[in-house]
Parts: sequence; C-alpha cells; structure tokens
Amino acid sequence: MLDAPILVLVDLETSEAGSAPTGPSLELLTAARALTSGDVVALSLQPLGEPASAILSGAGATRLLTADLGESAHLPATAADAVVAAVSAVAPAAVLVVSDYRGKELAGRAAVLLGSACVCDATALEAAGAGDDSVLRASKLALSGSWSTTASVGSAGSAPIIAVRPGIVEVTAADGAPLTAEPLEVPVSAEAAAVRLVSREATSVASGPVLSEARTVVVGGRGVDGDFDLVRSLAEPLNAAVGATRVACDEGWIERSAQIGQTGETVSPRLYIGLGVSGAVHHTSGIQGAGTVVAICDDSEAPIFEMADFGVVGDVTEVVPQLVEELATLRG
Ligand SMILES: Cc1cc2nc3c(=O)[nH]c(=O)nc-3n(C[C@H](O)[C@H](O)[C@H](O)COP(=O)(O)OP(=O)(O)OC[C@H]3O[C@@H](n4cnc5c(N)ncnc54)[C@H](O)[C@@H]3O)c2cc1C
Repeated sequence: MLDAPILVLVDLETSEAGSAPTGPSLELLTAARALTSGDVVALSLQPLGEPASAILSGAGATRLLTADLGESAHLPATAADAVVAAVSAVAPAAVLVVSDYRGKELAGRAAVLLGSACVCDATALEAAGAGDDSVLRASKLALSGSWSTTASVGSAGSAPIIAVRPGIVEVTAADGAPLTAEPLEVPVSAEAAAVRLVSREATSVASGPVLSEARTVVVGGRGVDGDFDLVRSLAEPLNAAVGATRVACDEGWIERSAQIGQTGETVSPRLYIGLGVSGAVHHTSGIQGAGTVVAICDDSEAPIFEMADFGVVGDVTEVVPQLVEELATLRG
C-alpha cells in the first residue's frame, strides 16, 4: 500500500437539488482508499455545499480542495491547469480522473504539463509491494479486449495521471469525518484561457442516464430498423442509457453521441442488452468491460451470441414488447 496522498478529480452533476458528485467520481474515491493509507484528496472545480461534501467524505475523501472555475471547469485545458495546481499543493502519489472524453484529454494534458506518466482507460488499479517499495500498477484492456495489460506507473518527476473507466469499482461507504473545504488558487494558462465555452446543452440522448456511466445500457442496431422508441421502451423501465451501433447512427436514427464501439463510446455497464446488433468487433470492442451481456437478434449465427451470457434468437419487434410486459408484471 502507498502512504502518500492520492488526488481524485471529482466531477459534479447539477440538478434542481444542487450539485452532487457523479457516481464514477465516488468510484474513484473508493479505488483511492484501497491504494493508500494516506489522505484521499478530492478536488472539486466548483464550490460545494455541505450535502455534496458529506457525500465525498462518505465515499472516502479525507481532504477537499475546491477551486471556482465556473463553466470553464468543463474544459479539459482549464481542468488540467487545476490538476497541476492541486498536485503542487498536495504532492500526491497519483492523480485519478474519470476516463471519459474530457478526463482522457485532461489526463494527457496535465501529464505533459507535469512531466509525468499517464495511463488512460484503466480497468484495474493496485498498489503492489510494501512501504517505500510499493508501486502503483494500472491495467487496461487492449486489442478489442483480447489482451489485458498491466503497467507499473512510477512518479517520474511528478504524480502520474490515471484515467479510470467508470463502472469498474463498487462504491463502498467510509466512516468519513466532515470535510473543511480548502480553497485552491488555479493560475489559468494562456493556452487554456484561449479556449472559451460557447454553449453546453443536453441532447435528447442525455435525457436518461449518461451512457459512459450507466449501470444498464440498451443498444439498438440495424435490426431495430429505425425504431428507437422500441429501444427506449425497454431502457426506461430499466433506468438504462440508450446506445447504438455505428450503423444506427449512420442511418440518422439517433445522435452520434450514442455510438458505442471502436470509434464511439467505451462502456462498462453491469448489464448490456443488444437489440438487433450483430456483434461486429468494432462494436464489441467498446463493451469489453460489460458485466452481463444479453443479445436479442434474429440471426443465430451472429457473433454477438459468442460473447452473450443470455441470448434470444428472435425478432426484436416480437421479443422486446413481451420483455417490457413481463418487466411491468414483475414490478406489479
Ligand atoms: C474502422 C471502423 C470503425 C467502426 N467503428 C464502429 C463503432 O464504433 N461502433 C459500431 O457499432 N460499429 C463500428 N463499425 C461498424 C461495424 O463494423 C459494424 O458494421 C456495425 O457495428 C454493425 O452494426 P449492427 O450490428 O447494427 O448491424 P448489422 O451488422 O447489420 O447487424 C444487424 C443484426 O440485426 C439482425 N436483425 C435484423 N432484423 C432484425 C429483427 N427484426 N430482430 C432481431 N434481429 C434483427 C440481423 O440479422 C443482424 O444480425 C466500424 C467499422 C469500421 C470499418
């Protein structure tokens, strides 16, 4: 186990009830607790209320740094400047960020600014060895998930930045003491200041859970023939995010941001349900971290059945309504 602090960049989601840490950020705090006997330092790029800071300590944060970057917090370059400032304040053994589009970009940028190492899309972390000899190891899936690689990540010069995939850690409660927010001054570089946020709005895909963070994902492929209402009819009762294959996005049936696979999102849900998806490797490379895979497809030879835990060979227009009805019956 390490004994130096671990710094965790916390992302926030805002609702009518205020700002709260996202699920993947809480997963990082749980992961950090397992790596160090030292402080787990949460870094928020916006000021936080008492309820949000209680959630952070309940997930394992022992210190809280807060900057006030406003909307610029959503920009990777500005967030990277904040990580650099926090590293200089805390001298952590490592920095953990969520491995989404923004997290991966800011991880690379912060590592370059710090002259340190960077690993993106990590699927497992461990602190191997004891005392001064302990070293951080990060694993990731490569080559469409057919290989798992593990690298030891030293602190060459400064703390390594590790972007961790959502969904790989189960959040566990810590008996955390109340946190006192420590304000962090962030000198924003000219390069970061040159980028300004013009607009930021949720698309209709974002009306359900966020795809990259969802516990359950229902995916529509060519086999749904443009009927994404059918996909949503199953996603909604399961509180699932809606995803798509590239074909479905190319056809304009759903926004490009819903695409899962090699050139789309990588997801690690507990449950993946593919509707009319053949399971081409370009698609399945984005679901290697999925827990249980369910496939409903009319072609019994489709490759998706090779990785499916449960498969139904059938027409989605017949199977999905029955499934939705059965779910409603089960839930009373
Ligand atoms: C460089 C590159 C990058 C790519 N990146 C991606 C990517 O990121 N993501 C991605 O998804 N793809 C990507 N692709 C495309 C990928 O190779 C496949 O073409 C695509 O994933 C297939 O999508 P699909 O399963 O929806 O369609 P298909 O392969 O056509 O499969 C549709 C399946 O639905 C079944 N079906 C038809 N009607 C019904 C019905 N009524 N009920 C039940 N089943 C039915 C069919 O039998 C078939 O098995 C990429 C390709 C390349 C070359």
